Amino acid sequence: MKWLGVLCALSVLITPSLGLDREAFTFTNYDLDVRIEPEQQRLGVRGKITLRNDSLVPQKNVALQVSSTLDWSTIRIGGESVEFVTHEYTSDIDHTGALSEDIVTLPREVPPKGTIELDIGYEGVVPLDVTRLKRIGVPEDKAKHSDWDQIGKSFTAVRGIGYVVWYPVATESADLSEGNNVFETLGRWKTREANSNLEIKLNSSRGGSESTVTLLCTGQVDQTRDAGRATLLAVTCSLSPTELNVPTFVVGGYSVLDRPTVAIYHLPAHKSGAENYALATDLAVPLVTEWFGAPRQKAETVDLADPEAAPFESGPMLLTPLGSTNSTVYELSAVHQLTHAAFFSSRPWIYEGLAHFAQALEREQQNGRPAALDFMGRHRTAIVDAEKALAVAHTENEAANQSLINTSIEEFYRSKAMYVWWMLRDMVGDAALKKALSAYHSDQDKESSYVQHLIEAQTHRDLEWFFDDWVYRDRGLPDFRVESAYPRARVDGGSILTVTINNLGDAGAEVPVTLRMEGGEVTKRVEVHAKSKAAVRFETSSSPREIVVNDGSVPESDTSNNVFKVPPSDAAK
Ligand SMILES: [Zn+2]
Repeated sequence: MKWLGVLCALSVLITPSLGLDREAFTFTNYDLDVRIEPEQQRLGVRGKITLRNDSLVPQKNVALQVSSTLDWSTIRIGGESVEFVTHEYTSDIDHTGALSEDIVTLPREVPPKGTIELDIGYEGVVPLDVTRLKRIGVPEDKAKHSDWDQIGKSFTAVRGIGYVVWYPVATESADLSEGNNVFETLGRWKTREANSNLEIKLNSSRGGSESTVTLLCTGQVDQTRDAGRATLLAVTCSLSPTELNVPTFVVGGYSVLDRPTVAIYHLPAHKSGAENYALATDLAVPLVTEWFGAPRQKAETVDLADPEAAPFESGPMLLTPLGSTNSTVYELSAVHQLTHAAFFSSRPWIYEGLAHFAQALEREQQNGRPAALDFMGRHRTAIVDAEKALAVAHTENEAANQSLINTSIEEFYRSKAMYVWWMLRDMVGDAALKKALSAYHSDQDKESSYVQHLIEAQTHRDLEWFFDDWVYRDRGLPDFRVESAYPRARVDGGSILTVTINNLGDAGAEVPVTLRMEGGEVTKRVEVHAKSKAAVRFETSSSPREIVVNDGSVPESDTSNNVFKVPPSDAAK
């Protein structure tokens, strides 16, 4: 009896997953006709999708998911209608926190590597919706600045998976309240989709009498203006969706400020903000060109009506409010965006890491090294917290691997990666790093050690240990401490001060050590490997006061133990 009970419970648990593997199929091709009606908040889609069974077993069912405010109307295979059941499926990959999921029973099993083509149709509305954020306790007025996607009369901007599932996908349910669960689910989907093709024909009604309505989308754009009808806008976008390129469309009454490197689509009320942004872009061009080459494609900046809306980027397209008067904000955005237009890598830690690194370079150019360190320092706590959260996850799951090479955590591939590029620059110098970057080609970046070898070729310095601790593995952060400082008198007067630096962390780094003494200071750099000590010697002619390890250029878990006061007795020796 007891066993029977256990078996029954097991079969209840197992049956649904045995019947349906939501992540079995890769959606290799999308060919969609999308009709947008801003006045009705409506979206209507017809088209074809091709799916490939990438699992190891034949599949009899397939799941198709779109946002919960959209309804499935048709699914046909080979011209025949097929059987499907629709239900609401809870998942936070959509702003509504739920999906309209179809479970399609295929007319025949699709073997591993086999493909199937489906004709599909669905439609509905895309209103502003903050359900998923409210569910985890984000106040509504705050949530709407983050999940701002909607189709509306005055404002239409809709981002793809992770925000609004406006084209069909299939993933297991993801929950925002469970740590990194949503990012991991999105990461799996984007990895599966890396070689897929999306071709989307967007049509939008103009909405009223506005003559300046513009329709924009991410990817390669074929602008077929007006499509023969004055009331309709049309554009075709093709893209391969990746971690860094989310299918997105925007419809709005924009004016355009067209510059050689950037087209700025702004709302009429934000003309001066757009001019500020254009100026910031002009200023950023020389720095970006010097480090990353000339921009290879034109960047697009699109205004968001809500002045508090969180900016969003997809490749070289940036959606951001242009109502600000703060020129520093524009300078930082512009240099980041232009770096994307100049330098491509399919690896997020390189693509995003370099764009954030460029922002630090920009700060340095404007106000010196302390300004750059201050800018990077604002990311430090986020990295420390992410490492702590990960350390907890590690104890539960050994496989939780978040090296920079394969991480889906933004704090890592953005903030930590920025520091990694800055540390590399401090270690090898500007000239060597610039040369290494100019030799970088995304299509040749097959091995994870590609970048390491490019930089080593310019410096003849062994960087294996550094890449091992920071890029290939996640070893957390260093924790430096000045262990001791021993002065020794010299024959000619003055003294030699031997300073020992202890690294209590599991990641090594080359770190600056500054000796402050009467009448000035001296800084030297020292390589301190993980769980190791290293000594650095200073020649001094005046009394040492204090020693400081790390000027903030190396992200550290604990900076409270970085200053060492030299005792007066020692200093007098
Ligand atoms: Zn970016």
